[in-house]
Amino acid sequence: MHGISSAPAGAASQIFINNEWHESISGKTFPTYNPSTLEKICDVQEGDKPDVDKAVEAARAAFQRGSPWRQMDVLNRGRLLHKLADLIERDRVTLATLETMDTGKPFLQAYFIDLEGCIKTLRYYAGWADKIQGRTIPVDENFVCFTRHEPMGVCGAITPWNFPLLMLVWKMAPALCCGNTLVIKPAEQTPLTSLYMGSLIKEVGFPPGVVNIVPGYGPTAGAAISTHHNIDKIAFTGSTKVGKLIKEAASKSNLKRVTLELGGKNPCIVCADADLDLAVECAHQGVFFNQGQCCTAASRVFVEEQIYPEFVKRSVEYAKKRLVGDPFDARTEQGPQIDQKQFDKILELIESGKKEGAKLECGGLAIEDRGLFIKPTVFSEVTDNMRIAKEEIFGPVQPIMKFKSIDEVIKRANNTEYGLTAAVFTKNLDRALTLASALQSGTVWINCYNALYAQAPFGGFKMSGNGRELGEYALAEYTEVKTVTIKLSQKNH
Ligand code: ADP
Repeated sequence: MHGISSAPAGAASQIFINNEWHESISGKTFPTYNPSTLEKICDVQEGDKPDVDKAVEAARAAFQRGSPWRQMDVLNRGRLLHKLADLIERDRVTLATLETMDTGKPFLQAYFIDLEGCIKTLRYYAGWADKIQGRTIPVDENFVCFTRHEPMGVCGAITPWNFPLLMLVWKMAPALCCGNTLVIKPAEQTPLTSLYMGSLIKEVGFPPGVVNIVPGYGPTAGAAISTHHNIDKIAFTGSTKVGKLIKEAASKSNLKRVTLELGGKNPCIVCADADLDLAVECAHQGVFFNQGQCCTAASRVFVEEQIYPEFVKRSVEYAKKRLVGDPFDARTEQGPQIDQKQFDKILELIESGKKEGAKLECGGLAIEDRGLFIKPTVFSEVTDNMRIAKEEIFGPVQPIMKFKSIDEVIKRANNTEYGLTAAVFTKNLDRALTLASALQSGTVWINCYNALYAQAPFGGFKMSGNGRELGEYALAEYTEVKTVTIKLSQKNH
């Protein structure tokens, strides 16, 4: 049933430093698995602190004054990013295949969503490379004052397993367009597409040391990056728990700049006047997309009481029709969860929903004899105090709540430590804009869901993160502002 069981030709499994492939210094490796078949795809070299040190040394040398990267015409930096996008387009099938094997996500999703996002993000930042400008600042007439927006230096990137390549490109593209160098640690569950990028980086012609990739585990290779004294900035996407550790490590080491994109428990508010077909479909896709493994998941659906029964009925119909199976089958909408740990956590939360009195409308179980697959699950009659309404589930589980008034739903939607995204479904402009201003989240979608653009910033309020990725806003996260003040010797009398 699962057509492909070993890594395609060209797939790399070593540590990438200075445009060369290396074995780990410890000699250790770790396995990466295909979550649909539970088969090992291959062993990957396991990086740890000494490998990270080597990568940082290479990245630092590539960043030195006078290096090819620092001397490069900024227009050529943009060209390299465009060329990287060209090679990703060329190898799109291979990359989507690798991503599907390593994550279990449907191939068509990897091809049309993840890879599309990578290409667009690279092209967007390629255009910025020669447009990062400081300002001339009027002070008094005896001085000239201007700012330079300089690259920060060596940037660490620690990425998650749910969108491995896309989350890497969200960091790599702005970092490189601003002239930084990189040390990347992909998630241990899904290192393969990030490593493949190493070969493309070399083929494109980035100078050695500009991009370095060290696969390995979080508490070892990841922590070696977050505690490193010679890394200037770290960009992380992952859990709030690890985000806190990273910020703490940054503070305790060298106060490196930190951007964090963390969890969410995102409200999706459906008003009685909404286009019901649209709202049901968006709420469904919003929570079930990517096996529910999205920080943007619509995991608290608030529905106005008049339409609640109809909304639940239609949502259940959608969930029951959702095709779960082989990610390489073009009809498949949902693959397996990433690993046993996540699978167990989701089933435990489903059990808590049942015990705490939510009404299980459909699903609620694993698919028997099929490894890590879980049936699309819908709960109605969910109340705010239940664990499924409070905790990030990261699985195919849709909790649906009821509300009576806008003031009430604003309070309830904001009553969470998270603040990543929110969605509103209504045809009433006044309600839409009132909610857009009242909801405490980095993104508010109105009559749409997961509408992400390379041009528009993305990030969280509260414990969903620090800083912004994407758009012009992300440039500030990868540059330091330097003020240059010059005293004129000629007196202006
Ligand atoms: P999840 O719990 O969903 O696996 P994590 O936040 O643990 O998500 O993982 C996201 C990324 O953070 C991965 O690349 C992982 O290896 C890394 N990571 C995990 N623990 C640490 C740590 N203590 N320090 C640095 N990175 C870590």
